[in-house]
Amino acid sequence: MANDRFYISTALPYVNADPHIGFALELIQADVIARYQRSLGKEVFFSSGTDENGLKISQAAEAAGLSVEEFAKKHSEKFRGLKELLNVSFDDFIRTTEQRHIKAVEKLWHKCEKDIYKKKYKGLYCVGCEQFLKEKDLVNGLCPEHNRKPELIEEENYFFKLSKYQKQLRGLIERDEYKIVPETRKNEALAFIDQGLEDICISRSAERAHGWGIDVPSDKTQKIWCWWDAVINYISALGYGSDGQKFKKFWLENENRVHVIGKGILTFHSVYWPATLLSANLPLPKTLFVHGYITSEGQKMSKSLGNVVSPYDLVHKYGVDPVRYFFLREIPSTKDGDFSYQKFEERYDCDLAKGLGNLVARVLALAKKLDVQLPVTSQTALSFVTEAKLKYEKALQGFQFSEALIAIWDIIGTLDRFIETEKPWEQKDNAKKVIQDCLFGLKEIAELLEPFLPQTSERIVQELKGQKSAPLFPRL
Ligand SMILES: [Zn+2]
Repeated sequence: MANDRFYISTALPYVNADPHIGFALELIQADVIARYQRSLGKEVFFSSGTDENGLKISQAAEAAGLSVEEFAKKHSEKFRGLKELLNVSFDDFIRTTEQRHIKAVEKLWHKCEKDIYKKKYKGLYCVGCEQFLKEKDLVNGLCPEHNRKPELIEEENYFFKLSKYQKQLRGLIERDEYKIVPETRKNEALAFIDQGLEDICISRSAERAHGWGIDVPSDKTQKIWCWWDAVINYISALGYGSDGQKFKKFWLENENRVHVIGKGILTFHSVYWPATLLSANLPLPKTLFVHGYITSEGQKMSKSLGNVVSPYDLVHKYGVDPVRYFFLREIPSTKDGDFSYQKFEERYDCDLAKGLGNLVARVLALAKKLDVQLPVTSQTALSFVTEAKLKYEKALQGFQFSEALIAIWDIIGTLDRFIETEKPWEQKDNAKKVIQDCLFGLKEIAELLEPFLPQTSERIVQELKGQKSAPLFPRL
């Protein structure tokens, strides 16, 4: 099993609305991990994409007066555009309406066929959730997540024998063979399994689906449940279903397989997806990292409240790295966090403009004045960064983005104090040496920053090579 490769994926958002900062957070978090693993010399494959086969997509398209294909394509492009907008390094972007995905879904369906059967069923379906709910999940007869009444459905559909995998799945999660981070989410998954797993409905009539979705192989009267197909993207993006070389390289023969998701879709990823893989006799992912939600100015983001924050607006106003910085530093990686313009601008001002930006400008100005170049090494600077680097690495191995940034900012603080103490502007004997140490410290900072603020990191490196550029973070 190779340990020099790394596969990481984000969840696939629905294309029934424009991207908001919740998904931006997930992309940025996954990007930091991907970039960090590349910096360790691993061969990384990072995938993202869009989930397009749901009922809510076809309904939203009808409401918008567009064909589902046109509607899905239009919205999918906005999600794909986040790559450039947020400077995210994903290697592939898969749409669940692509042929390569459909082929993989068909192949996996056949692999699971021994666990698939047909039966008459009656249940309450929430289109918002794209899943059946139980009476006990409802609050005043409504889906608590979407505040709407689920539809009563009575159909003959295909079912997957989820119950069969209860014990095996529990053991794998319990022993961290499929590791769920953080621990609270692991316990939540175990508690869900302990309630007892029932077989799940994995198809719907083509009629109810309005003809939209992937056909059940050899039964065109039925469409596959969009959740059952969507999670398969994690392997269809690797070519499962077509040539399979990447699948072999990054799934079958690779030790490091990580999914990044939001807390709302834990059950799909901790239960349904791994059970499907067990049925198909395929290895499970190794790690599931679960982040929280972002509120906006203290409230859940919603169209009706008018507080939905667009990553496009934010980046156009402040630039990409300040946006990346805010989400990684201010939002706790595994808990809920809040976005507000005030907090954003405070972070910008304090940490970026006055903190990092000021240090870089100050050191470079002194270096220019005293004609000092970046040295090959500096024992003093290395002594400043050793401890912080250990903290940084530990934090990143545990998906603790904020802690890793705090470690970098500790170095910034140390360098600031060092300059204040040594006062190189007084041009004493050691002035040049002090500035050399600072330049080397900046080089170390730039390297550590790369996964987080790639553009800023690159600019610092260029400046250290004597290439001039504008201030890093102009004051707001
Ligand atoms: Zn719902």
